Amino acid sequence: MKMGVNSPQITDAVQAHLGYTLAVLTFSGAEGKLPLNEVSLYKVNTYTIELEVFLMQIKGMPLGPIGTNCYIVYDNGNALLIDPGAEADKIKAFLEREGLQVQAILLTHAHFDHIAALDDIREVVDADVYIHENELSWLSDPQMNGSYKLLGNEIVMKPAESTLKMGPMQIGDFTFEVIHTPGHSPGSVSFLFDQHEFIISGDVLFYHGIGRTDLPGGSMKEIEATIQHKLYRLKESFTVYPGHGPQTTIGEEKQNNPFVRA
Ligand SMILES: [Zn+2]
Ligand SMILES: [Zn+2]
Repeated sequence: MKMGVNSPQITDAVQAHLGYTLAVLTFSGAEGKLPLNEVSLYKVNTYTIELEVFLMQIKGMPLGPIGTNCYIVYDNGNALLIDPGAEADKIKAFLEREGLQVQAILLTHAHFDHIAALDDIREVVDADVYIHENELSWLSDPQMNGSYKLLGNEIVMKPAESTLKMGPMQIGDFTFEVIHTPGHSPGSVSFLFDQHEFIISGDVLFYHGIGRTDLPGGSMKEIEATIQHKLYRLKESFTVYPGHGPQTTIGEEKQNNPFVRA
């Protein structure tokens, strides 16, 4: 979005903080603070400062019987929807309220609690579903997606349109990296938004916890290796948005995670 701010003067705070992840803007006459992910200065004179602001936001919604976090990453009216696991109405209401156009639906893995709202959402959202190829068939397989055993109710979803390729990915204006993070399930992936310093980690790494490894294709050895070598290598300041529970940071988990320490 472009933002014009009329102001007689730019205070030092503006210039001093330009280029930082968090820019604190203070204008004489109207003081305000804005968290800005990126700020580029277009034109500065005595009367006008015009900034282009890229303000990516993330909304987490714990949904369904076991509070699975659905995430909506959005910017400038466009959105990525991640793990629509239940309560499609709540997701739809948020998209509508914010006026968001979903450009893709991404799945961290295919357990029932991360996929069960897919078909309801796809009634109103025209976007491709992306999943790791290892779990492509799980969307319609109640044994593998855990719904038969854990929910006592067979969850069967329509097939996904696309498989995820590991590495950098661009969808619309969103640029991120897909990382294979197996251990909880063989097709678990994480979505890394390097520039914005956060990662959506599915059921691999939680606040002071890790994902269970007793479900089909799970492995304790593998989840430990994933966390040590793929997640703990990230900057400590990175925010982790997990599939369940509150957000955390890489640094917090490296120091205090009781299961996997750096
Ligand atoms: Zn899971
Ligand atoms: Zn889960």
